[in-house]
Amino acid sequence: MLDTAALKDLLAHPKKIVITTHHKPDGDAMGSSLGLYNYLIQQGHHTTVITPTDYPDFLSWMPGNPEVIIYNEKTEQADVLIEDADIVFCLDFNNLSRINEMGEKVRKSKSYKIMIDHHLEPEDFDDFRHWDINACAAAQLVYSFIVDVLDNKKLINKDVATCLYTGIMTDSGSFRLPNTTSAVHRVVADLIDAGAVNYRIHELVYNSASENRLRFLGHCLLNCLEVLPEFNTAIIVVSKQDLEKYHVNTGDTEGVVNYALSMASIRLAAFIVERKDQVKLSLRSKGDFPANEICKLYFSGGGHRNAAGGQSTASLQDVVNQFKTILPEYKKLLIQ
Ligand code: 5GP
Ligand code: MN
Repeated sequence: MLDTAALKDLLAHPKKIVITTHHKPDGDAMGSSLGLYNYLIQQGHHTTVITPTDYPDFLSWMPGNPEVIIYNEKTEQADVLIEDADIVFCLDFNNLSRINEMGEKVRKSKSYKIMIDHHLEPEDFDDFRHWDINACAAAQLVYSFIVDVLDNKKLINKDVATCLYTGIMTDSGSFRLPNTTSAVHRVVADLIDAGAVNYRIHELVYNSASENRLRFLGHCLLNCLEVLPEFNTAIIVVSKQDLEKYHVNTGDTEGVVNYALSMASIRLAAFIVERKDQVKLSLRSKGDFPANEICKLYFSGGGHRNAAGGQSTASLQDVVNQFKTILPEYKKLLIQ
């Protein structure tokens, strides 16, 4: 275990550092990781961001992106970096299973492990924890880690600010979700003052879709959407054939579930997609409906109350049926 003083001592001299984040990184995963990266390189640390898998093009523009290593594309190089690291930062996840086979490599490495995260129920693998489930994004926690824990606000430059803004913007649903507190707006104001160009970041993330993505979205809404009015629930079910037909790339499915949730009466929305070797579920809910509970209890997953995910090795049709049979149990919460 490290206390804050020991952590500051550790970071006082250049170290070999790996930053990693969860499988299929989202905006907060990449924003928090690259925000911390752009902070640490200013102090001479040899720092590498390693993601377990690839991530969408609309997140591939952030400062430091060209230096990111994708584990399943450069495994040998990444393994050496993990084994030699003095410190491994684990951002936007709290269970080593979320970084796939990298997890055991990180666990075995002699490095200090530092967790910066906002998910429930952390696994006990870390030496220092900056963890708060009330934070709207891991990027918000990277900000407070730099400003409050390390007392280094002056090093929040334009690059750091740009990445952290991206993480907070995406995980707060563009400052829309209940986690968007006044404190979040104060942090975001600081990031804009430090050089984050807010309107440009919105353009880069939200207005950079391919034609395929838009046509795929049309297909989902027209042909794959099922509304279950007796449960105020809507599901979008997408098969492997749909993904092939519309040439769906990493990231193209991101956010589709929100369209199902956008109907007035809907309290729970699910996007259920047949991937190569498993079926993946993305759940979104309104108010106090616990989407994460369904993912945890039935689909080996978890997440936040209003945004959660899970998976199953059953067939697509079986997963859809299973999901539907769970709903009566939650009827009271869904019909309010
Ligand atoms: P998404 O639906 O965008 O894939 O995931 C939404 C949120 O659910 C993520 O931010 C993450 O917190 C959580 N999540 C998604 N998949 C999993 C999973 O397999 N396990 C756990 N523990 N959380 C997940
Ligand atoms: Mn997050």
